[in-house]
Amino acid sequence: MEKSSVHKGTLFIVPTPIGHLADITHRAISLLADVDLILCEDTRTSGKLLKHYGIDTPTRAHHMHNEHKDVDRLTSQLSDGMRIALISDAGTPAISDPGFLLVRSSIAAGIEVITLPGPTAFVPALVQSGLPCERFVFEGFLPHKKGRKSRIDSLSSESRTMVFYESPHRLIKTLKQLTDAFGPERQASVSRELTKVFEETKRGTLSELHTYFEKHTPKGEFVLVVAGKP
Ligand code: SAM
Repeated sequence: MEKSSVHKGTLFIVPTPIGHLADITHRAISLLADVDLILCEDTRTSGKLLKHYGIDTPTRAHHMHNEHKDVDRLTSQLSDGMRIALISDAGTPAISDPGFLLVRSSIAAGIEVITLPGPTAFVPALVQSGLPCERFVFEGFLPHKKGRKSRIDSLSSESRTMVFYESPHRLIKTLKQLTDAFGPERQASVSRELTKVFEETKRGTLSELHTYFEKHTPKGEFVLVVAGKP
């Protein structure tokens, strides 16, 4: 991208790879090299990606622990004409990651927000699940404790395909709870380590998947896709 085509005082939301380093667009690389500042969820994690692509733009940490505090200062820097890119550790910022607060306050301050299309874990998991994907709901992470059961119960009559993010430690518990709530015969799919060396997708009923992962300890990052109520 030509430097002149980058807008002044703009917040750019830039997706980064979810595993495979090559999964980043040419536009994202040019933009990250061109902006005044890159906000990173973790500057060390993103530092590896930026180094790989020879990007030496200044970085600053913007994560769940400082985003509330940081948003006003960033919004005024954007209002002053800074061009700032936000990236997260992996995938698209604001999708189960920090970003929403800054986007909302930037819009309220009349700052242009431009989001690049790019990697996110739920799209490949949904598409390769083989479950209907013309309509779906993205549920992200289920609450760990409080509100978990009521969230699951609220989905019991959902007819669209449902997509969940899950950690390896909770996958078996979640498969069991969804089996109890939706019935053992409900079709589902579990994708792990998308775009990485040990990428794998298992498809079957909730009860089959529960049995499988009880025998094969879940390792890595997971997306769980569950068919809607027939
Ligand atoms: N912003 C990211 C996105 O756009 O997908 C999501 C970040 S969220 C903190 C991390 C969760 O995303 C993981 O726990 C997992 O559920 C999912 N995830 C991220 N990368 C993944 C991958 N390579 N394979 C499977 N799931 C992944």
